[in-house]
Amino acid sequence: PAVNPIQSPLLDRTTPNSVISTTLNDLSNWTRLSSLWPLLYGTSCCFIEFAALIGSRFDFDRYGLVPRSSPRQADLIITAGTVTMKMAPSLVRLYEQMPEPKYVIAMGACTITGGMFSTDSYSTVRGVDKLIPVDVYLPGCPPKPEAIIDAIIKLREKIAREIYENRTKPQQGKRYFSRSHR
Ligand code: SF4
Repeated sequence: PAVNPIQSPLLDRTTPNSVISTTLNDLSNWTRLSSLWPLLYGTSCCFIEFAALIGSRFDFDRYGLVPRSSPRQADLIITAGTVTMKMAPSLVRLYEQMPEPKYVIAMGACTITGGMFSTDSYSTVRGVDKLIPVDVYLPGCPPKPEAIIDAIIKLREKIAREIYENRTKPQQGKRYFSRSHR
């Protein structure tokens, strides 16, 4: 059977940091950062700014981003807006349905800390990173489309530095969460 040279254990054991492995790693990183496909997903008002980004004015397709309706076709999820306790299990399930390697941008104060709901609300998750691993935090209320583009550029820079083998390890969301996550 054909062996993916990037994932070949022989290559990893015998030629660490060789020209071949690092070149293949860089090539793999370049293809992934150049064609991130975000899940069409939003939970609150921050998504309005994300939707603006999709239009012709900001034209984020030029970064290779193509919004997908299915998590099985997406490798990026931008959690745009407040995450409620009721929505949390669905978010974790969507994340787990995305194939590896996959990335998360936490967009907006409500997503990152609970925002204005961080003190008195009984229904809001105070930090989406309690549910799924976050790669880039994008603060604001709401962040402007230009700020989202900046977050995507930072994510692309992060992907460019990645070691492929480390990123393909399964990253599970936290299926079970308790009142302490509020
Ligand atoms: Fe809405 Fe502001 Fe919260 Fe975003 S951060 S979901 S704009 S209240």
